[in-house]
Amino acid sequence: MPTGACGVDCEVCKLRLMEVCSTCGPGRSATAAGKLEAQKRILGSPCPILACASLKQIDFCLRDCAEFPCVNFSSGPYPFSQGFLAMQERRRKEPPPAMTHNRSKLHIPDEYWERVSARDVSVLRQAAKATAGPDGGVCLQSFNELLWVDTVGKRVCRRVREQWIEIGDALWGLVTLLYLVNVEPMQEEGRDLIGVADLKEAHYFRGPHAMDLHGLLERYGYDAGGFREAATFLGAEVLDLADAAASLRPCPQAPVYFLLHEGDEEFQPKITVMFERSIERIFSASGIWSLVKVAVSKLLRGPDRQECS
Ligand code: SF4
Ligand code: SF4
Repeated sequence: MPTGACGVDCEVCKLRLMEVCSTCGPGRSATAAGKLEAQKRILGSPCPILACASLKQIDFCLRDCAEFPCVNFSSGPYPFSQGFLAMQERRRKEPPPAMTHNRSKLHIPDEYWERVSARDVSVLRQAAKATAGPDGGVCLQSFNELLWVDTVGKRVCRRVREQWIEIGDALWGLVTLLYLVNVEPMQEEGRDLIGVADLKEAHYFRGPHAMDLHGLLERYGYDAGGFREAATFLGAEVLDLADAAASLRPCPQAPVYFLLHEGDEEFQPKITVMFERSIERIFSASGIWSLVKVAVSKLLRGPDRQECS
């Protein structure tokens, strides 16, 4: 692959066509190992970016490394400007776009706040594994974070360094409210695992509502270790299934299971999403779509740039 670990795409460079220069390749590739040797031989020392990516077994710094943009980029004039690095730093902290399953702008209806307010906190404590909020509303665990659903201020906050900060991710907020509106005490039979095709509304997940896993496949399809690292960061239970598997908890009683089969020379990578059977007693089809979208977005963001309490 002609893209180097740093992200420079040699595919579109005339220097490669003229055989004046060759690609560095992804950090885990044999091309990278060969280029490092050549750099040591010809230049006396290797490129610090390529050497670091190779050592850390990172294919592409911009896509795969939690530390990007690190000092190896910021300390040198090459390959990116300080303006580009600052933009990357800033935009990596932005929440995902507030879009619904129909790609329309997401707005949380007032009715959902009222319905959560109207619920008996003792029922929510038992059914949703929620606790009373600091100033009304309720708190609950979501992934690796403590959320406060502030029904008075109509906002969902996360705990960051002893303070409550609005989460900014509208879809995450919607999923949390839907959960609190609908969850009821669980029955034992709700723990069976089912796939999308087993859902009563399986037909919903076709065409425009098909679960979009292409980003996960691109990022983790050949990197089960990276998948496990991201899932562990998010507080998921790592399971001994497939090449890597984990159960993430966007909501305490609504886990989403991801099973990854890594790709190789023969087979394309594959990711399967599964749920506990009780999922349909909490979420409609569009709610399940949103739940998975939030979990996918968290996995793609990975351990980087997430502020935790
Ligand atoms: S910065 Fe390093 S990894 Fe990137 S193209 Fe140059 S030598 Fe290769
Ligand atoms: S620490 Fe920096 S150079 Fe090393 S892999 Fe990460 S982003 Fe690349």
